[in-house]
Amino acid sequence: MHIFAVANQKGGVGKTTTSVNLAAALAASGQRTLLVDLDPQGNATMGCGIEKRGLTSSVYQVLLQLASMDQARVQSPSGKFDVLPANRDLAGAEVELVDLESREMRLKTALAAHKEDYDFVLIDCPPSLSMLTLNGLCAAHGVIIPMQCEYYALEGLSDLVNTIKKVHAHLNRDLKIIGLLRVMYDPRNTLSTQVSAQLEEHFGDKVFKTLVPRNVRLAEAPSYGIPGVLFDKGAKGAQAYMAFAAEMIERVNSWKDS
Ligand code: ADP
Ligand code: MG
Repeated sequence: MHIFAVANQKGGVGKTTTSVNLAAALAASGQRTLLVDLDPQGNATMGCGIEKRGLTSSVYQVLLQLASMDQARVQSPSGKFDVLPANRDLAGAEVELVDLESREMRLKTALAAHKEDYDFVLIDCPPSLSMLTLNGLCAAHGVIIPMQCEYYALEGLSDLVNTIKKVHAHLNRDLKIIGLLRVMYDPRNTLSTQVSAQLEEHFGDKVFKTLVPRNVRLAEAPSYGIPGVLFDKGAKGAQAYMAFAAEMIERVNSWKDS
């Protein structure tokens, strides 16, 4: 079971879009997949077609050990993958976890009991470097960082990289950056291509080969509760996320060989 946190403390950079579509694309490629929604906004939950308000158990109860994974996880109605959903309850976890024992290891512990169930677990992190994100980073083997190729993209990246280094040093020796994923890419925009080239220059093979274009079908899909890769399979955005899933599977297989 490979666990990846999709993280970037900036909001609106494509974390949720990447988590939902990569989960659906991996599942469509035959991988047993779990998507963990770790954002109190519950956008990934809704984007998978799960009504967040009706949940009796969610990731919140799992983190506080008030419910088991089996009680909280649900099958995505549209794709063949599981979701550990989230809603507003999760906002309270930030404060409630502070006084609890091994507060940053809660998700790791919950997932460890299910390592035979899945090939991939993706964790959609909230837009902060909070206790919730820390739970995501402690549970994960690697981090996928979605970023827009804009002027300020690199600003803030160092905070995230430093946090990942600290977590690696003190809490999770397994953690590494798997790669930077360029999203909402517009090849007609000169700045977009320049920043993209800069990323390749600075980060080398830490930049995924797949480029996710700006594509309105990806933005429309959540309002139907269907991942973009299933909503309009022919759209450029859907095809990019299918290619990204293939790239991830290839990566993971290359670790097995080495
Ligand atoms: P985050 O989870 O980092 O806050 P989201 O995935 O919610 O970011 O994306 C922010 C907004 O951008 C959403 O409205 C989403 O639909 C839109 N979006 C994300 N990726 C794309 C894309 N490749 N093309 C067009 N719109 C996108
Ligand atoms: Mg999000």
